[in-house]
Amino acid sequence: MDRMTETAEAAAAQMDLGLPWQHGFAALGSAFHTELRPTPLPAPYPVCVNRALAAELGLDADLLASREGVEAFTGNLPIDGARPLASVYSGHQFGVWAGQLGDGRAILLGEVPTPAGPQELQLKGSGLTPYSRMGDGRAVLRSSIREFLGSEAMWGLGIPTTRALCVTGSDAPVRREEVETAAVVTRVSPTFVRFGHFEHFSAREQYGELAKLADYVIDRFYPGCRATAKFAGNAHAALLEQVSERTAAMVAQWQAVGFCHGVMNTDNMSILGLTIDYGPFQFLDAFDPGHICNHSDEQGRYAYNKQPNVAYWNLFCLGQALLPLIGDQELALAALESYKTVFPRELEARMGAKLGLADARPEDRELVEAILKLLAKDRVDYTIFWRRLSRHVAGEPADTVRDLFLQREELDAWLARYLQRLGTNGRDAAGELMLRTNPKYVLRNHLGELAIRQAKLKDYSAVQDLLAVVQAPFEEHPGHDDKAGFPPDWASHIEISCSS
Ligand code: AMP
Ligand code: MG
Repeated sequence: MDRMTETAEAAAAQMDLGLPWQHGFAALGSAFHTELRPTPLPAPYPVCVNRALAAELGLDADLLASREGVEAFTGNLPIDGARPLASVYSGHQFGVWAGQLGDGRAILLGEVPTPAGPQELQLKGSGLTPYSRMGDGRAVLRSSIREFLGSEAMWGLGIPTTRALCVTGSDAPVRREEVETAAVVTRVSPTFVRFGHFEHFSAREQYGELAKLADYVIDRFYPGCRATAKFAGNAHAALLEQVSERTAAMVAQWQAVGFCHGVMNTDNMSILGLTIDYGPFQFLDAFDPGHICNHSDEQGRYAYNKQPNVAYWNLFCLGQALLPLIGDQELALAALESYKTVFPRELEARMGAKLGLADARPEDRELVEAILKLLAKDRVDYTIFWRRLSRHVAGEPADTVRDLFLQREELDAWLARYLQRLGTNGRDAAGELMLRTNPKYVLRNHLGELAIRQAKLKDYSAVQDLLAVVQAPFEEHPGHDDKAGFPPDWASHIEISCSS
């Protein structure tokens, strides 16, 4: 066989996953994306597979870890029926208009039907696109494992999120602060449309495309917006309200579990209110309301306690982008108002559940504020506190809770008030609710870091173990209690910044 035939055969080789691909986003047209092929990586190998998600997608997990599967999900082997593309968007980064951005290292393959509706599959780290700007189109193993575990940890907690199917690696060097190796994470989401997609077409005054994008999102994900009598039947105002409410509910869950996103730029805000783009994210260790998890966020714009306001600021940008469609500033402002009622209501409900209160009342706010103040004063570990409190309510002595505090008298006074509020009748039910609400396990930075260190030595067992634990964070995992303990001293020195 001569060289030409060999090349032609290789080019014709495709992997058939047996999936009935569809291409709703691609069908929007060339103003929205560029069709292109992923750039291959040399000698890829499997790193980890999310078997539960593979099953949901109707994919054979063993196939994903097979040689062909690894080639396909690295972007080396075309997938039969996929239609790879990179989408264009813009956005505000750190409060400043950044102009055009886009999928600089992510490539959408298309969507597949599942019992939970169509899901898009996207390769992240699969090479340069027209939107790569100064970047190299790559992701490193470390950040890909963080995204894989981070999104599945959020899913396990019941928090709206994009998901992760698998990670593949290659020894190809990638230059960051030091030289690391390349990886590709396959992400899964009903859509990867961001606030920034709307900002893009609005800023360019491409109102036809703006309307087309809004129609696409409304038809697929928010069909109720067309039927509502609210906002004088203005479907785009209704969309803004719906997105505001979903975003409010998501951020309330972040706050309750102690999740810091780290880069809440408008291009990292999902139009479905899903947690998206796991970069320098962190689950709190010690409770510090002003905690900044992103090492490059010098001003603390995205500190833990700023997240609720930043989300509103971002929604305001979305509102501005939708204004040409809504056509009435008063309506747009009215649609945004919902955030201000839904966020506190959702947060109250979440914090009430953490306290085991099935019927949170306005006066409970004081109980919540008082304990958060104490937690902050003594820098108490956030996850451990709530879990120990749950166990106490479920019947264990108070010692393990008291041990966490220096201000024991203040704590005792709070505990007395709290237990009185719980009453004796409801204590069993409260304990049960708390153990279902306050996770035993969260993906702390140092847990990810330990698994990553092993993965760099090509032992991926710790990643797979951690996946199983964080996907079921309310359950006991015999043999894994070390993952529910206090972080080691070195955990506070882990530095995580944007885009790695
Ligand atoms: P992020 O803050 O990680 O969400 O990224 C912001 C923008 O930079 C997005 O448009 C990304 O696609 C792009 N980007 C980040 N890292 C890279 C990279 N290594 N190569 C190309 N584009 C990148
Ligand atoms: Mg991003």
